[in-house]
Amino acid sequence: MTTIRCDGTRNGYKLLCNGSLYQCACGRVGCQQSKDAMCSKQGFSVLGRCVACGEVGKYKLLAPEAVGFRHTLMQDPQTS
Ligand SMILES: [Zn+2]
Ligand SMILES: [Zn+2]
Repeated sequence: MTTIRCDGTRNGYKLLCNGSLYQCACGRVGCQQSKDAMCSKQGFSVLGRCVACGEVGKYKLLAPEAVGFRHTLMQDPQTS
């Protein structure tokens, strides 16, 4: 798996969001939803407007490498 998923919850449903995460130029990280305030960790509206800075379209898909995910987090069968 190379895609980071949103671990927020959908308002009113108590379901794991599991949406793709995006990062704005301002640093805000969150998922994109079709309506405002749909997810507890929503970062962007359907139009791509950042909830933190208000800029539109300044976001990009968040890759694991960008947030410091490392191989050391995973068990390496060859270390023992
Ligand atoms: Zn979400
Ligand atoms: Zn922003």
